[in-house]
Amino acid sequence: MSLEEVLTSIRRAETRYGREPGSVDLVAVSKVQPLDRIEKALAAGHRRFGENRVQEAAGKWPDLRSRFPEVMLHLVGPLQTNKVKQAVELFDAIETIDREKLAEKISQELENSGRSIELYVQVNTGEEEQKAGVSPAEAGELVKFCRYDKNLPIVGLMAIPPANEPPAPHFALLRKLAEESGLEKLSMGMSGDYEEAISLGATSVRVGSAVFGARVSPDPR
Ligand SMILES: *Cc1c(COP(=O)(O)O)cnc(C)c1O
Repeated sequence: MSLEEVLTSIRRAETRYGREPGSVDLVAVSKVQPLDRIEKALAAGHRRFGENRVQEAAGKWPDLRSRFPEVMLHLVGPLQTNKVKQAVELFDAIETIDREKLAEKISQELENSGRSIELYVQVNTGEEEQKAGVSPAEAGELVKFCRYDKNLPIVGLMAIPPANEPPAPHFALLRKLAEESGLEKLSMGMSGDYEEAISLGATSVRVGSAVFGARVSPDPR
C-alpha cells in the first residue's frame, strides 16, 4: 500500500457506504517511521499526521512544520499530565483524554497558552486492562465533565479495538456512545480495518503501516 492507495480506498469506501465524499480524514500515523517516508508524504501534499509519543513528535515535527506550516498533528497515544504543556504546544488535536485529571490539566494549559485544539475522549471499548481509555460506562460522564466543568470543547470519541477480536462491534459501540453524548466525530480504524470503520461511521481513520510501510523498529505501544 501507499499514501495514494490508502486515499483512494478511503474515497471508494465513502462512496460504497453512502458517506459524503471527502467526509473521512486520513491521519497518517508516522510514529517510528524514517524521516524520508514522512517527507515523501508531505511532498505528495498530505498534511494530517499522527504520533503516539510526545517526546518523539517533539524531536521531528517542529522542523518539518517550519517548512509545512499547514501540518495538522494529532496525538493518538497516552498522555501523562507532566507532558501536557508540551503536548498543547505541539499538537493540533489530542485524541486521548481518558481521565478527569488529564482534562483538568489540558484545560489549564489551553487557558495559559490561548491555543485552541481539537479534543477527543478515548474509550477503552474492549475494557482491556493494559489499554488506555475511559470505560464505555463512564464515557458519558467524562465528556460532561470536560464540557461543563472544564469548558473543553470535545468534538468526538476515539478507540483502539482489541487486537484479537473483530473490530466491528467496537466501532458500533463507539458510535453509539458518541450519539448519546451528541458528538459528531469518530476516530476509529487503522491499517487493517479502516474501510470497515468507515462503513460504521468513522470521520477520521488513523493509518500507519499501510501508508508508510512496515514500522522499522518495534511498536512501543
Ligand atoms: C500505531 C497506531 C495506529 C496505526 O497503526 P497501523 O496498524 O500501522 O495502521 C493507529 N492508532 C494508534 C493509536 C496507533 O498507536
